[in-house]
Amino acid sequence: MISEQLAEIRRRISEAACSAGRNPAEITLVAATKTQSAETVRAAIAAGITICGENRVQEMAEKLDAFAYDHASLHFIGHLQTNKVKQVVGRVDCIESIGSLHLLEAVNECAARLELVQDILLQVNIGREPQKSGVLPEDVPDLVQAAGKAGHVRLRGLMCVPPAGCNSEENRQFFGAVRQLFIDTQGKISDNERLGMTHLSMGMSSDFEDAIREGATLVRVGSALFGPRTYHTSES
Ligand SMILES: *Cc1c(COP(=O)(O)O)cnc(C)c1O
Repeated sequence: MISEQLAEIRRRISEAACSAGRNPAEITLVAATKTQSAETVRAAIAAGITICGENRVQEMAEKLDAFAYDHASLHFIGHLQTNKVKQVVGRVDCIESIGSLHLLEAVNECAARLELVQDILLQVNIGREPQKSGVLPEDVPDLVQAAGKAGHVRLRGLMCVPPAGCNSEENRQFFGAVRQLFIDTQGKISDNERLGMTHLSMGMSSDFEDAIREGATLVRVGSALFGPRTYHTSES
């Protein structure tokens, strides 16, 4: 049944892309696999999922130990505490949720120790929500500059999670604002090979079509793919 859900999501992605005059191939589906078992993750990958997104460090570590993500890429998409950075750096293909200078520096230091370069996205707190992590829009240029100086991260783009409960029009305004930031940043970054604006990660089950209309290249979909989540742990 995962393959049927996947086909339906892909159909909706194509439809949203085409109605926006975009090529559906520009959009990659990230399966948000939090709370899903290693077995379900494997089934999703067998059905064609190419990127999994996790947002709990402990849960991800368990599934890594069970080789759940073999043959797919892995993105970390959740809130990351600096004391857990070493459990994530080098184990995922991209950390999408870099939301502060402090975290950027911690990831860079860890990657330096491991002698690797970690791909990252900057998470933008587009709704300016105090309880939510992420860089405020006006601070994005400073973080981009810091990423340019940090030798062990490679900036690949921006990510956002707009405020919950917005209608389609409000969502599109938030997504459009992040897209504008993305374009502005593209225009400013020079030929530093570790700075690139290729990924715009936005849109979840309830709003990925709006995000695609506003330029998303990565959409992170969980419940629309796997059904409603049941939580077993309290770790966040
Ligand atoms: C859980 C999660 C998603 C997917 O949410 P759904 O509404 O289930 O599609 C996307 N992005 C992040 C950061 C998440 O934590």
